[in-house]
Amino acid sequence: MNRRDELAANLAEVRQRIERACDAVGRDSAEVTLLAVTKTFPAADVALLSDLGLTEFAENRDQEAGAKVAEFGALRPDASARWHMVGSLQRNKARSVVGWADQVDSVDSERLVDALARAAGRALDVLIQVSIDGDPQRGGCPLPDVPRLAEYVARKDELVLRGVMTVAPLGMSPVQAFDALQGAVTRLRDDHPTANVISAGMSGDLEDAIACGSTCVRVGTALLGSRRLASP
Ligand SMILES: *Cc1c(COP(=O)(O)O)cnc(C)c1O
Repeated sequence: MNRRDELAANLAEVRQRIERACDAVGRDSAEVTLLAVTKTFPAADVALLSDLGLTEFAENRDQEAGAKVAEFGALRPDASARWHMVGSLQRNKARSVVGWADQVDSVDSERLVDALARAAGRALDVLIQVSIDGDPQRGGCPLPDVPRLAEYVARKDELVLRGVMTVAPLGMSPVQAFDALQGAVTRLRDDHPTANVISAGMSGDLEDAIACGSTCVRVGTALLGSRRLASP
């Protein structure tokens, strides 16, 4: 099978999983964005996914992403694509990241908010990355601190708070984690009406996330295959 057919088959399968998961809980699948996580895969794969109708792509390392976004632009100059940064981010990379990212999904500290606002100089969409278990090793803002960080983002003219993102912690069932996230964003929305994105669910747990209200699933492996390179 050539790569295009392989990606088309994977995409059909992922879309069917999303459809079934939505059906199971009475949700409309139009509410769930499919974000293709293309880290470690070449720009040629992004071009094929774009040909197949995907428009949202995510990367987790600044250097890899900057080159890939430029290469994709050269391959498909007329395609529309929105790029997300989903990886942990050093403040000194803020300027470089806003050069290619339309949205930063991994905002987890006031210092990073300052750096992004300074670097952006325009309306940049952001998500607060939430740590459900508060483990500092894995990044994310601990759940109880989310309202304060949201307030801090909201005070920056250059940033637009679009919602929250999480990765299910290892020692907890995904449903338990995604439920906690849904509770947090419901409260957040009262103060921040633009914050309606819940980015939760990956290749292995997207059904659980959709059952818990996710509006964006971030899928790498199930679309592109297993990654040969470790991507921290
Ligand atoms: C790699 C990655 C994904 C995709 O994971 P898969 O299990 O390959 O679908 C999702 N979210 C983040 C933050 C990632 O780094």
